[in-house]
Amino acid sequence: MKYCAKCGNELEQGDKYCINCGEPVETPPTDNFGTQTHYQGPPQTSGMGITSFVLALISLFLPIPYLDVAIGVVAVVLAIIVISKQPKKGLAIAGLIIGLLAVIGGLSLLVEGGYDDLWDNFTFIGRLFL
Ligand SMILES: [Zn+2]
Repeated sequence: MKYCAKCGNELEQGDKYCINCGEPVETPPTDNFGTQTHYQGPPQTSGMGITSFVLALISLFLPIPYLDVAIGVVAVVLAIIVISKQPKKGLAIAGLIIGLLAVIGGLSLLVEGGYDDLWDNFTFIGRLFL
């Protein structure tokens, strides 16, 4: 329950003015919420650093050709954006290094045919349906 700041009269929810004295009712909670949702800055970019790091790890351990390389590239691009814009860049640097390792590793697996067993399984499943 809210009370008038001037006279202490009980206020109904949604009242804009006090019925007793006419004092405008202050509604700071909704205002604060509005400014918080519009706030953009370091928290978002540091979130990108974490995203880059997580994507790099996923890319490193994901055994799906092309997809792992694609995710690794996204991780590296995110890391570069964070490193160029953010003072706190520890996770982004880790994301960049792991992302590059994942991309290089994924590409070398493609070149050396390391995914062959996996592809055999895919084509086997494909034959069942075609
Ligand atoms: Zn009042």
